[in-house]
Amino acid sequence: MKSLVLERKDELSLRDFPIDKDEEVIGPRDVRIKLHTVGICGSDVHYYTHGRIGPFVVNEPMILGHEASGTVIETGSDVTTLKAGDRVCMEPGIPDPNSKATRLGMYNVDPAVRFWATPPVHGILRPTCVHPEAFTFKLPDNVSFAEAAMVEPLAVGVHAATKAKIKPGDIAVVLGAGPIGLVTALSALAGGCARVYVTDLAEKKLEIAESLSPAIVGVDAGKESLVDRIKADTDGWGCDVVFEATGSPKAAAGVFEPLAPGGCVVMIGGQSEPIAYDAGAAMIREARVENIFRYAHVFPRCVAMLSSGTIDVKPLITRTFDFAESVRAFEIAASAPAGDVKMQIELPQ
Ligand SMILES: [Zn+2]
Repeated sequence: MKSLVLERKDELSLRDFPIDKDEEVIGPRDVRIKLHTVGICGSDVHYYTHGRIGPFVVNEPMILGHEASGTVIETGSDVTTLKAGDRVCMEPGIPDPNSKATRLGMYNVDPAVRFWATPPVHGILRPTCVHPEAFTFKLPDNVSFAEAAMVEPLAVGVHAATKAKIKPGDIAVVLGAGPIGLVTALSALAGGCARVYVTDLAEKKLEIAESLSPAIVGVDAGKESLVDRIKADTDGWGCDVVFEATGSPKAAAGVFEPLAPGGCVVMIGGQSEPIAYDAGAAMIREARVENIFRYAHVFPRCVAMLSSGTIDVKPLITRTFDFAESVRAFEIAASAPAGDVKMQIELPQ
């Protein structure tokens, strides 16, 4: 079976691709997984359209995809928690288990981390992969492969909500109604927020946001001042948390404006250039600022919340393609249709 290969910027092909032999050898603590569903991430699309993200440059053909679920087909000799036939989702970043970052409990910022579809590491739009048991999570029967492939982006929102230290009844603002903004809004509600305002310029995206929960309020940033709205709704006090999920320098420059004294700003959206940061506005609020990079060990929480119904990601999955249509799926994703949140690809079983 074929793999989806980014040959170079703007060129994808579905073809046989020889994977390095070492990568296919199953170690005692590894499992072999047959891939089932893979989500198309903004980063996959960015490598396709730009050939790079910051310092990571596609210099050689690379298989795309990192948001995945599948079925275990083989286990290493020392694997105890998984067996052939188990349905699973996989965490795509593998740190060095002996690194200082890992030992300090923040393996996501380990400089040695190997993350799927981040050059030179291949992604998983391919028939099978070998993955450590420790980064492979068994799915309850009531969590579908499609929902499980949403755990990776959801993990970003859950990590952000965790860093914000949300308290029950908090009011939050999420800047940006893209997939990450929406999973962050759902995570903030799951963390106890009474209300989450989501702001964007695209009306269709705000409609989707509001459809997720009666506690989500869409604010069209092109028509209404977010700061005025928050001030009006909080007797002038402001919101407890602002999540920046646009990656836009302009939006990021205003992150402190709607924030209440003692509030928290969490920077999520990737910023490729230095951004304006109003230290004075942060200071007069004694604002706490958190930055996140992916996530660290929140996959089990995400799976538990999908299973219990605390979080429902199904409305975010707006289109599903057969693997044979992968190239077309990426062309459509690159055109960023306003009515789509997450597109997924299903591999033949
Ligand atoms: Zn992703």
